[in-house]
Amino acid sequence: MKILMAASEAVPFAKTGGLADMVTSLALALARLGHEVRIILPRYFGISRDKLRQLPGPLGVSMGGGEAWSAVYTDTLPGSSKKNPVEVYFIDHEGFFGRDGIYGSPSEPDFLDNPRRFAFFSRAVFQCCRKTGWFPDIIHAHDWPTALVPVFLKYRERDERFSGTASVLTIHNLGYQGVYSKDNFSYTGLDWNVFYNAGFDDWNMMNLLKAGLVSADKLNTVSPSYARETLTSAGGFRLDGVLRSRQGNYLGVLNGIDTHVWNPAKDPHIPVQYSAKDMSGKAAAKAALQKAFNLPDTPDVPVIGMVTRLTEQKGVGELFGPSYGSAWSICRDMNLQFVILGTGEAWCENELRSLSSHLSNFRAIIGYDEERSHLIEAGSDFFLMPSRYEPCGLNQMYSLAYGTPPIVRNTGGLADTVENFDQDTGTGTGFVFDDLTPQAIHNTVGWAVWAYYNRRPQVEALRLRGMKQNFSWDVSAKRYIALYEDALGIR
Ligand code: ADP
Repeated sequence: MKILMAASEAVPFAKTGGLADMVTSLALALARLGHEVRIILPRYFGISRDKLRQLPGPLGVSMGGGEAWSAVYTDTLPGSSKKNPVEVYFIDHEGFFGRDGIYGSPSEPDFLDNPRRFAFFSRAVFQCCRKTGWFPDIIHAHDWPTALVPVFLKYRERDERFSGTASVLTIHNLGYQGVYSKDNFSYTGLDWNVFYNAGFDDWNMMNLLKAGLVSADKLNTVSPSYARETLTSAGGFRLDGVLRSRQGNYLGVLNGIDTHVWNPAKDPHIPVQYSAKDMSGKAAAKAALQKAFNLPDTPDVPVIGMVTRLTEQKGVGELFGPSYGSAWSICRDMNLQFVILGTGEAWCENELRSLSSHLSNFRAIIGYDEERSHLIEAGSDFFLMPSRYEPCGLNQMYSLAYGTPPIVRNTGGLADTVENFDQDTGTGTGFVFDDLTPQAIHNTVGWAVWAYYNRRPQVEALRLRGMKQNFSWDVSAKRYIALYEDALGIR
């Protein structure tokens, strides 16, 4: 199959969250299965042109209101095999992408011209295929930034070259829908009747994700439990009705993890590699972690780790909210150390700084740091993810692979990947709680810490059981192939 991933992020080129990991790992896994896969991305300011190859000639992209001119660059995706490499295409446009930030900047969190930027990019996807003479069987779009791709395919681009192409749209996070003033609709170059027929209309605003959900041949999200949650009014972010109307074409496929990058036996970011057969390197990682976070080197005190975007979705209100969050009491009442790496909402960053200065066993690093995130996964004893909702979540799978039992809320992909510890039978892979309350987080961390001090053999067995789970992409990539075949069947 010829598969084109149209995305706004892909590692190592551009990343704000799990979407970037998924696009790259899925592309590589599909190529390993023998399919011809390409990725198309905007060339953001942070992606240097120096290392890319430029295709000759300009790329004309007609938008509502005129033609935009851009250039196309290419590169081979790192990690590709020589036999079947994944080529990455970059759409270069100074006005739309020649600035710092993918979706926004500190002073403008959601760029005002985002509907125009991503309308341009989504049209450029088709023009790039025409320019290179490569026409995919499947165009796979991801989240609101490329949700216009299935809409364009259905309402605008369906000439003979794209007559056999089917579209798939993956929801990575229903909380972000790309809702803008409908004045921006003219940038799509579509007729106004499409605004209503394709489902753009959202209380007199323009909802890009909704239009994509109405138009794509097949839809999916990144875990079976999250797929079920999004069909309810509690988890559907006002789009549950639209999703229910497409229920026959909508399913959950669990993300895998890149086992070349997230593997304690090969990880270059930890001092001593380790595996389930020889766990001694984990102690060295813990010592390095304590040093990196300026904590006492105490091997027998459990370390709770977190790596996260600091947004409400991740449960940071219940954990760090001033005066009601549970982090303070957790650190005060329990003999543990707590480390967190993250960036996000200003109030939360400030709260983390304040906790770090008031508590001797709490340390936060504010920032985005790939290397330290590996050290936290390896060096912590438990990994905390009290998410309000979690479409899939990668960190809990990383922590399972690193022998660091996760402490998670029973939601979405967390529910699908972590099995609760049963202290009578000793089974499970982590610690799971239902209610998103400061008390529930406090109690469940307390339970893990209690088990660490009182049931050490069971905790060691928990670590090993987690390390044996298979979250490799090879399983999920085959599910995507089945989904693509169904989409082609619809065509
Ligand atoms: P989401 O996509 O909702 O942010 P996921 O768990 O699916 O959550 O993926 C988050 C990804 O981003 C993981 O690979 C995680 O390690 C990484 N990440 C998040 N914040 C940071 C940070 N501050 N430093 C390094 N990596 C981070």
